Amino acid sequence: MTSVGCRSGFKVITTVSGARRLKKELTPGIVGLVPTMGALHAGHEALIEKARQDCDSVIVSVFINPLQFGQAEDFGAYPRDLEADIRAAMKAGGDAVFAPSRDEFIGGTMLTSVNVDELDKGLCGRSRPGHFKGVATIVAKLFNMLGPDKAYFGEKDWQQLQIVRRMVDDLDIDVDIVSVPTVRDSDGLAISSRNRYLSADERKAATILPKALDAMRAMVAGGETRATVLSERFEEMIATEPDVELEYFSVCRPQSLKAVDKITGDVLMAASVHVGGTRLIDNMVINA
Ligand code: AMP
Repeated sequence: MTSVGCRSGFKVITTVSGARRLKKELTPGIVGLVPTMGALHAGHEALIEKARQDCDSVIVSVFINPLQFGQAEDFGAYPRDLEADIRAAMKAGGDAVFAPSRDEFIGGTMLTSVNVDELDKGLCGRSRPGHFKGVATIVAKLFNMLGPDKAYFGEKDWQQLQIVRRMVDDLDIDVDIVSVPTVRDSDGLAISSRNRYLSADERKAATILPKALDAMRAMVAGGETRATVLSERFEEMIATEPDVELEYFSVCRPQSLKAVDKITGDVLMAASVHVGGTRLIDNMVINA
């Protein structure tokens, strides 16, 4: 195990054997895991801070998971700065960073994968086939290597959160999945590692996404119950920004992700847009 330029006791682990040793060292205390792809920001920090409150020790994993990127996606361009991530993880209250290389973590070709059926079909799954299989497979590997008692996921990636919950239930993985509300910038935009791809103009235009979701919430609060009416209005609002292209808007049940026509009870409104070359997602759960 290495400990490079860190707070005393803070560990930076890059090997699978190191991860296994760490797991043994931290047991029987309550171990929290915050899985990330690095480029840590205030959203990730909220997860780490929550884990700090709940757990005796907090591990932050930093792994840009190649299995979850499509061929035409931004794997090569994805921001990488491990030193900054270590500093951010430490500052937010982490005790260790697990940052394996691709070869160390995945090795050659994997023949085994974890596929959470149905939940991966709609929303982001429609335009990103294989994405959630890549996520679930790597999250399962992390759970096996580190054996956390609790693992923290952001509500920003709502579909991912439901898929991880379902995987843990279906496979009886002994970990408590804790969700953390979406952290937003002062202009309402959900904080994302990909926001740094946006130009100043694009960034301004992108705020139509949370604004449109807020407007939908207000429409439901005002008595609107028809999903089709919300969809039409949402499309119109996004269309007011010529640089923003709507990929999908979905009104569905928060856990099953099944589309609803009539808004009653708990409902998830989720959307994805493209701003220039950048794909952004956001969502809101409402209770009608
Ligand atoms: P990523 O590094 O993008 O894979 O994200 C790692 C974790 O941080 C996931 O569980 C995300 O849902 C969560 N996350 C990312 N952005 C935010 C945010 N703005 N607010 C809360 N959680 C977030």
